[in-house]
Amino acid sequence: MKDQVIPKATAKRLPLYYRYLRILNNSGKQKVSSTELSEAVQVDSATIRRDFSYFGELGKRGYGYDVEALMNFFAKTLNDDHMSNVALVGVGNLGSALLKYKFHQSNSIRISAAFDVNEDIVGRIVDGIPVYPLSDMAEQIKLQQIDIAILTVPAESSQPIVDDLVKSGIKGILNFTPARLHAPKSVLVQNVDLTNELQTLIYFLHANSQDENK
Ligand code: ATP
Repeated sequence: MKDQVIPKATAKRLPLYYRYLRILNNSGKQKVSSTELSEAVQVDSATIRRDFSYFGELGKRGYGYDVEALMNFFAKTLNDDHMSNVALVGVGNLGSALLKYKFHQSNSIRISAAFDVNEDIVGRIVDGIPVYPLSDMAEQIKLQQIDIAILTVPAESSQPIVDDLVKSGIKGILNFTPARLHAPKSVLVQNVDLTNELQTLIYFLHANSQDENK
């Protein structure tokens, strides 16, 4: 890989490419052109070529891409050739839904432990995943070599949990709470604020319909 930082927008498109390449590979297709890829993933082909250029020579001009080689390359880049054990903290409505969720774009993401403080839930197995008391979090994270945590606790409880997760060696946090979390630079925090996303969508819907009425 070339020694440069991949733009976030490019990084976000990689799972899209990877997913489609897996579909092609499963159907026995060996070559794909950037135009075909572009139509399937709805990203224009100039953007695809630019995205791919960050990784060096992935194909030859006018020849198309080798599906299996490209799929394997993205599997490595996205770490999909290694099992990633993930922890989930907070087995409420959203947390329980995520425990049920099949991470269908990936072979390799597995929520292996959940944590909560509610005694009614602790000690149970929810959708095949054991729910431990919060007091066991550091121990289980080390034992199960967990690098990533999903946070679905109430916003006001989130920061002390993040501090404990960081102390336990967690490297990445997917934060579903609306709280802005403090963590050292070495820990990546990705925020998924569903309310925010919907409000943005609603804002754009109204802005567009006002434009149309002009
Ligand atoms: P959601 O916000 O997912 O819809 P909910 O409304 O069912 O969930 P919340 O009050 O948001 O419930 O709590 C989510 C979960 O987080 C609950 O199962 C709760 O027991 C758990 N929880 C609350 N505080 C903590 C904490 N400090 N550590 C771990 N889990 C916690």
